[in-house]
Parts: sequence; structure tokens; C-alpha cells
Amino acid sequence: MATPVSPRAHRETQPNDWLSVASMTLLAFHLACLLVWVVGFSWVACLSGVALYVLRMFGLSAGFHRGLAHRTYTTGRVVQFLLAWCGTMAGQRGPLWWVAWHRQHHRYADTAQDIHSPVVYGFWWAHLGWVLCRRYDGTERAVVKDLMQYPELCWLDRYFFVPPVLLACGVFLVGLGLECWVPSWHTSAMHMLVYGFIVSTTCLYHGTFTVNSCAHRFGRQRFPTGDASRNSYWIAVLTLGEGFHNNHHWYPSSERQGFYWWEFDGSHCLLTVCKWLGLVWALRVPPLHVLDTPTHLLSRSHSAATSSRRAK
Ligand SMILES: [Zn+2]
Ligand SMILES: [Zn+2]
Repeated sequence: MATPVSPRAHRETQPNDWLSVASMTLLAFHLACLLVWVVGFSWVACLSGVALYVLRMFGLSAGFHRGLAHRTYTTGRVVQFLLAWCGTMAGQRGPLWWVAWHRQHHRYADTAQDIHSPVVYGFWWAHLGWVLCRRYDGTERAVVKDLMQYPELCWLDRYFFVPPVLLACGVFLVGLGLECWVPSWHTSAMHMLVYGFIVSTTCLYHGTFTVNSCAHRFGRQRFPTGDASRNSYWIAVLTLGEGFHNNHHWYPSSERQGFYWWEFDGSHCLLTVCKWLGLVWALRVPPLHVLDTPTHLLSRSHSAATSSRRAK
């Protein structure tokens, strides 16, 4: 993969990226959402869509992000693979690709080398533009060497289209079954496909992308991270806790991103249940000195902390 260069410069040299596979896929999903007016409403299909949104967001948040990208807890290979499968069902490419770019984001947050910084390159580029850009289709393998020891993750990354396609077929078949065997539920194969897969996946795209765009523009900065990351409660609700992004940039090693009891962190709650069930363990928490330090004291050490973190 080529070294990250200015996305603005790239946009100027390759304007035809609107015809890339990613662009066509995203466009197709958005247009297909209009089918809700063709098939009509179904409560069962709508609730299935919500459930599949939560399941796949958990795969992205707990699996891709907190598990694979930051190693904030320990788990076995089966659970690691299942969480990665759930994340891949979101249709946002494979785990190695996702993790490599995310690690690059932390390393260069809100500088020219951060490919989805809304501060440097603008809101829409951060939200969607970079994803559509063919230049960023590749994965910098050196950044994810630790994950390449798992052949199952490499397979998932290579055949990233398999989980979402199987999911689409699965919800269609379930809808067909419900239509035949439980007609009182007033749902159908097309209802399930449209609400359970198409609308749910489109919402997932924007839910995830708000962390790259909005969580670096809107909200409150508790910690002087030296970048533009913000804490936003509404983004946290949409993303199972990922909206506490300033907390996360300050202490990425913590599994928990809502640092205080009033910061509802959905993925943390679900991972805690997984811990009770013995599926994951050693959830890492922010040290007490991070939680107890008043913000005005942190501000004094802003410069020193920023330079030391940038040096890592
Ligand atoms: Zn960020
Ligand atoms: Zn992160």
C-alpha cells in the first residue's frame, strides 16, 4: 500500500473515484432504502433491523476496535473470530483493513497524515470521502503484523464480502419462513431484506462514520489530547459507547470508553456480560490517576503530555 498522502491532492488527481466499487455499493444501499415505500412497514422486520444493527455495531466496537485494534481485553480465538465475523457483517471491509487504518488514525490524529481528519480535510471527506477512495483500498500489513498470525482473520479480511452476503441471504430466508409459517406476524422475505439488512446496514455505515467525522468536531473535550477528539453522548448511544472519543484518544488502552458511571457505554456493558460468561477476560480499565485528575491540572501538562504521546 502506498504511504498516506494528502487526500486533498489525491482528490484533485483522481476525481473518478465516484465510480469505485465502494462508491457504487454505498450508492446502491442508499437507493435501495427507498424500497421501504414499496414493501410497506413491518414491526418484526424493523425490530430485526435494530437487533442486527446492535449485533454488528458490537462486532465493530468490541471486536474490531477494542479487541483487535487496541487489544484492550483478552479472549480465545473462537470468540475473537466470532466478534470479527459480526464486525465484517457490517460491510465495512475486513478486520485487517479496518484495524490498519484505525491504528494509523491514532498515530497521526488530526494531522495531514490522518486520512479521515475532519479538521484537516473537511467533514464530508472524513465522513465518507476517504472510504470511497480507491487509493485507500489497501492494507498496510506492517501495521497489523500481530493480527496476521491468525489465518482465520486473514481469510475474513480477504473474503470480507462473504459475511454480509450470507447475512442478506439469511434474513431473506428467515423472512420467507415467517411469511409461510407465521403469517400473523405480517412480514415477508422482502420486508426482512429491506429493513433487516439494507436499512440496517446503511444506518451502520453512518453510525460508524460519525465517529470519524462528528466525534472530531462536535462535543466536549475533557482531556487535552492534542487532537480534535470530542466526547459526545448522542454518538455514544448510536455506536455503543464509541462516542466518548476524547476519553478514548486520551487512554486508548482502556476497554471501557465511558470512563464514569454516567457515560453509558453499551459495548462495555455487553463485554462485561461476556466476562461473566467466561468468554472474555482481563478487561483493561483507565488507571485511577487518569480518572481522578481534575481537567485544570491536565491542562497545565498539556504540552508535555502531547509531545510525549506524539513521540510514541
Ligand atoms: Zn479519533
Ligand atoms: Zn481507537
